[in-house]
Amino acid sequence: MPQDGPVEVVILGAGVIGLTVAYTLLTTSPNAYKIKIVARDMPDDLSSQAFASPWAGANWSPMRGSNDRTRVWERATINKMWELTPQGLAMELPSRVFFTTNEDLSQLWYKDLVKDFRVLDPSEVPAGLQGGIAFKTFSINPELYLPWLQSELLARGVEFVRRKVHSLGEAAALAGPNSVLVNATGIGARSLIGVEDADVHPIRGQTIIVHAPGLKEFVSLPLGAGNPGEATYIIPRPSPPGEVLLGGTFQPDNWDTSVDVATAKGILERCAALAPQLKDAETRILRHNVGLRPARKGGPRVEAAWTDVPLKSELLPLPESDGRVNGRVLLVHAYGFGAAGYQNSWGAAQEVADLIASSLKN
Ligand code: FAD
Repeated sequence: MPQDGPVEVVILGAGVIGLTVAYTLLTTSPNAYKIKIVARDMPDDLSSQAFASPWAGANWSPMRGSNDRTRVWERATINKMWELTPQGLAMELPSRVFFTTNEDLSQLWYKDLVKDFRVLDPSEVPAGLQGGIAFKTFSINPELYLPWLQSELLARGVEFVRRKVHSLGEAAALAGPNSVLVNATGIGARSLIGVEDADVHPIRGQTIIVHAPGLKEFVSLPLGAGNPGEATYIIPRPSPPGEVLLGGTFQPDNWDTSVDVATAKGILERCAALAPQLKDAETRILRHNVGLRPARKGGPRVEAAWTDVPLKSELLPLPESDGRVNGRVLLVHAYGFGAAGYQNSWGAAQEVADLIASSLKN
């Protein structure tokens, strides 16, 4: 639907996906969009457990279950992160990842995408595991990265509005007729009236942040190597110096955001077995965290369609809907990224930007 002047865009959600979509729209098509980000949790709400983004590792290391589409996203993201490394936002990270399968690791799809990829010799693989690889990837610190993204957006004129939205109709009313509405609500897509995506579910992740300058590499055991729900991994971060995230848990459908003390002790023991430097005298525990990964059965939902969104529902009459019954918007969904929202972010945001550009032409 072509129109004069910048197209109004409302992005519902200020996690890494909503922010990266906004950044990509503004940098790939300068002056084409006027963007408002509406969200309950803002990028500097770094203690809020109501959204996932503050709690990520966050590094780039593809998981089981990736497909051609997510690989495109991951490829774009790692390339972008190499660009951000010189400014200190991302850090090049030596990595060792172990596997429980006998597959030919020399043919992994990302072997040429990461740096210094090699298959580990069996003598380098812990007992009970089938193989491993070493490579260089990146990590970031969400506590610095999210505020950086927000400051970049503010500098480009993006308006941030703190508001909990109850329904898609309420969001469409905020967006105005014939504008773009991006639904980047993460786990909120499960309960947003009008979306109500029952495939969206949490995967609970408990972690520990430590100061451990002796830990210099990402190390990860495969899911299934330990007890159900355990995920053992170590992610050094670019800054503050010496900060490292220890994981963790991977507990589907567990909504509990409280720290479990026995689980924390288990994480420390498992990580120390993997990296004995954790027992160095200078190690200090800084924080215990729990976050909910916003997963979706069937994978992330990224799609766009012109939609007549009912502005009122029996659950939420909207006095502010100025008499209109429907709000016609280009409705774009971008949620359900589970354990990979950061490493998908730049590629997924580019797909969203392409979908918006092509839909606006039609
Ligand atoms: P969120 O960050 O959840 O943001 C959702 C936004 O929508 C928030 O602003 C929220 O307030 C808003 N919202 C929701 N509902 C409403 C509503 N009704 N009204 C208004 N606003 C609403 N990913 C990686 O790539 N690498 C990693 O190493 C990694 N490690 C992780 C470790 C842990 C322990 C956890 C918990 C996650 C990890 N992740 C990792 C996953 C990553 O954090 C998520 O995939 C990503 O943060 C999802 O971002 P999002 O923007 O989709 O959702």
